[in-house]
Amino acid sequence: MKRTIVLFLTVSILFQFFSCTRNAITGRQQFKLLPDSEMQSMALQQYNEFLTANKVVPASNKDAEMVKRVGQRITKAVENYYSSKGLSKELEGYKWEYNLVDSKEANAWCMPGGKIVVYTGLLPITQNEAALAVVMGHEVSHAIFNHGNERMSQQLGAAAVQEGLNAALANKPSETRNIFLASFGVSAQLGFLLPFSRKHESEADHYGLFWAAMAGYDPREAIPLWQRMEKAANGQSPPEFLSTHPSEGRRIEDLQKYMPHAMEYYHKAIGK
Ligand SMILES: [Zn+2]
Repeated sequence: MKRTIVLFLTVSILFQFFSCTRNAITGRQQFKLLPDSEMQSMALQQYNEFLTANKVVPASNKDAEMVKRVGQRITKAVENYYSSKGLSKELEGYKWEYNLVDSKEANAWCMPGGKIVVYTGLLPITQNEAALAVVMGHEVSHAIFNHGNERMSQQLGAAAVQEGLNAALANKPSETRNIFLASFGVSAQLGFLLPFSRKHESEADHYGLFWAAMAGYDPREAIPLWQRMEKAANGQSPPEFLSTHPSEGRRIEDLQKYMPHAMEYYHKAIGK
């Protein structure tokens, strides 16, 4: 009996050890069990299904143009940063796409592989391009830091994860699909949400601010943006960004802390 327990613990510890990776940018240890390639192929499938099932705003629309422009500037900044650190391999398989979808929901998300959606209901809250850049930077951070993979790894359970995502999908298609969608904040269709942890939200805020600044958007817009977001969510089901209910004061305080560094990136980007 004792031997079985010891064996079990050893295997568990080894399993944990081999599935923990240190994120090259944030430095945080991550419990990530699913291969990135599987996450990306599932994202591609779910993204295309989502675009078919929802009303995509035509590319000629000026808001759709803005979403694309902001997305391209943000992701260029991310790629340049990763390349400057010799980490381009981390973004392997990424083929960025940016779509604006007609929906009252104030939401946005990015799936692994760089598949981005912004909902029209978000634009009255962002109000300007720099604030949209802050939100898109936040979402891109969730994707490139593999936050969704961590959440799925926890939700699916070790057994399903060992089988692989494809096997889980074959055995329990709708459950696996729903966990996947919920892991990326695609919430309204499901009626439930897996909130990103405070840690995930704070990493996404921190680096999202930097990507926006590096892309030449004024990071100071982040403060009034999150204040507007808090106000808009008041009493309603909160969008992904507020899902863990970080107190507004704490969020703003953290952003203020990162602001001097973000301003350096901003001045460098705009050449002043
Ligand atoms: Zn978030």
